[in-house]
Amino acid sequence: MATASETHVIQNLVGGAWVDSRSQQALPIPNPATGELLARAPLSTADEVREAVARAAEAWPAWRDTPVIERARIMFRMRDLLEAHLEELTASVTAENGKTLGEARGEVRRGIEVVEFACGMPSLMQGAALGDVSRGIDTTMLRAPLGVVAGITPFNFPAMIPLWMAPIALAAGNCFIHKPSERTPLTSNRLAALWLEAGLPAGVLSIVHGAKEVVDALLSDPGIAAVSFVGSQPVAAYVYATAAAHGKRVQALAGAKNFVVVAPDANMAQAAEIVLSSAFGNAGERCLASSVVVTVGDAAERLTPLLVERARALRVGDGADSATEMGPVIRSEHLARVRAAIARGVEEGARLALDGREDADESPEDARGEASGYYLRPSIFTEVGPEMSLAREEIFGPVLSVMPAPTLDDAIALANRSRFGNAAVICTTSGAAARAFQMRIEAGMVGVNIGVPGPVAWFPFAGWKQSFYGDLHATGMDAVNFYTERRVVTSRW
Ligand code: NAD
Repeated sequence: MATASETHVIQNLVGGAWVDSRSQQALPIPNPATGELLARAPLSTADEVREAVARAAEAWPAWRDTPVIERARIMFRMRDLLEAHLEELTASVTAENGKTLGEARGEVRRGIEVVEFACGMPSLMQGAALGDVSRGIDTTMLRAPLGVVAGITPFNFPAMIPLWMAPIALAAGNCFIHKPSERTPLTSNRLAALWLEAGLPAGVLSIVHGAKEVVDALLSDPGIAAVSFVGSQPVAAYVYATAAAHGKRVQALAGAKNFVVVAPDANMAQAAEIVLSSAFGNAGERCLASSVVVTVGDAAERLTPLLVERARALRVGDGADSATEMGPVIRSEHLARVRAAIARGVEEGARLALDGREDADESPEDARGEASGYYLRPSIFTEVGPEMSLAREEIFGPVLSVMPAPTLDDAIALANRSRFGNAAVICTTSGAAARAFQMRIEAGMVGVNIGVPGPVAWFPFAGWKQSFYGDLHATGMDAVNFYTERRVVTSRW
């Protein structure tokens, strides 16, 4: 029998009003920890996208002409609202994504920092001026917003990734249309309600829920000036090519396969903590997760037993339980894909030192006593070769691969074979090794004794190779440049 929550289809935000999608189709949004149905996400249509773009285009001239100092005041109010609602947003992220409360709180914090960055827009979007570029002639460079821009986001950071985009796009004077992940759309609606409370005028921020049809409509709509995308590599490549073919500015942040190199001189207890939190935090569903550890020299003998012992002891369960150290993965289909990746690793000849599938049937039970939730315990492979899929493909689950390398140079060469270049980490007590690593590794987010070299709002999120498509990255001055056009005025009086 259908419960009230099963009939609850979440709404779109169009022209400043919350509206029901006209689509007859909606996807269930289960809590990954319990299987409980939280709501449904409508699969909105291309017509509904066109309508949202039209309403945003109407709102844009007044928003563009609103002094940036007033726009920044809305950012300050949003920052205060996010602080006031931190725990509620944290709980929302945990409920729809499954990550632990600590992880969810961390991502909301990282999102708040982008709002804090955007509070500085009156300084950030200043131009430049030069008097007497010729006799009696002056030149001024001003930054102008682009118009209506779109953001398409993934399931794994339902609060932080929308907040990588919207604050900077909006503070710079653009209208922003958001297409959240259809798997984790609830926090986006809550964020949008806070944006309205902070004082955003109608039509400046819109949300159109859905999947491919909504994305395709955004990529081809002539009213959209720029597209920000974060998601898997094949979709990023498609979004980049398609939006560019329609004349749009695009930044597409993509998938990853991140390596952590552990030097023989590393503090092994610390290295083990770093590797475990990086590989198994967010149940491995993190684009900065280190999923391959390359041990240099005799580091393997000392590190691997620690990794296996501690990973085996990790408390896996509902992220809403404060004792939980690792939550479930996002969906049963995803669970099946991760299990298949483990089976493939075994077929390819790697040694499965810790099999996270073993306890799979011990997932928590719901109130009716039925097994529920999409649980997998940590898995660790050793004797992984560079040609194996374990070393090459993004699994996006709690699976760690250990590869040996004789020297640091060999380890760097192994990591650099990857087609991805999102992040790379070294654990070492040697400054020379750290320096060699950071100068030669082909990745944009580099950690030295830091498991997740996470995004810092004031800097670009700098993925390389097939982890990024575009020129200007998310956040920091790159984002200010991405969301603004430059106008150079030369005048004589
Ligand atoms: P995904 O690519 O499946 O979905 C991302 C967005 O694209 C969603 O809004 C989805 O509706 C849309 N989409 C999916 N398939 C589409 C298609 N065929 N055509 C058009 N649109 C489509 O990604 P996901 O599973 O939600 O997120 C996980 C992926 O995101 C991982 O690969 C991860 O590495 C990556 N990611 C990257 C970063 C980064 O900063 N580089 C950050 C977070 C996540």
